Amino acid sequence: MSLPRDVSKTDVAPISITDVQPGQKKLMLLYAGIGFVAVGIASIVLIYMILYQPLASKTTGKSGEFNLTEIHSVSLARHDHVSLSILVNGQQAMVPEEVGINPQLWHDHSLERYGPSGISPMHTHDTSGTIHIESTTPREYTLGEFLAVIGINPDRVTRMTVDGNALNDFLNHPMNDGEKIQLELNISG
Ligand SMILES: [Zn+2]
Repeated sequence: MSLPRDVSKTDVAPISITDVQPGQKKLMLLYAGIGFVAVGIASIVLIYMILYQPLASKTTGKSGEFNLTEIHSVSLARHDHVSLSILVNGQQAMVPEEVGINPQLWHDHSLERYGPSGISPMHTHDTSGTIHIESTTPREYTLGEFLAVIGINPDRVTRMTVDGNALNDFLNHPMNDGEKIQLELNISG
């Protein structure tokens, strides 16, 4: 994964090597390397903060804990998988794990009644970008509904493609099993 490097418009402190002592100049390259990694990590944290936190105050106090046995025993009307990739300012960004499960990544609970007990019917288990649609009701789930769950402001979406084809009305796109969705976001504004 390539890390976003442009953090100039952020409140993340720039990595400073100006206070390195003269005798430590041989370590400058090492520091620069560490700094590069640190900036990368800071960028990931920042993307999380900007993309996934703005609706945090709306989260309920509900615990993200759930009963795996119950989930796997509930009978589902739908269990589909969509592949999501996200570009932020042109750089690949990680899709978080436990979207629709972790309270910090589960903002809109309005569809909760259609999911297995205690989780959103649209969720992620890992960082692979796979969106699981596990619904007790045979209904459609739109990308807009997923953005509401994860807490991404649709105004930040600059482009969306499904299997390579651009869609203008991305919010109302019903997600289908096996398709590949790419979201391009701008967070500089
Ligand atoms: Zn699944």
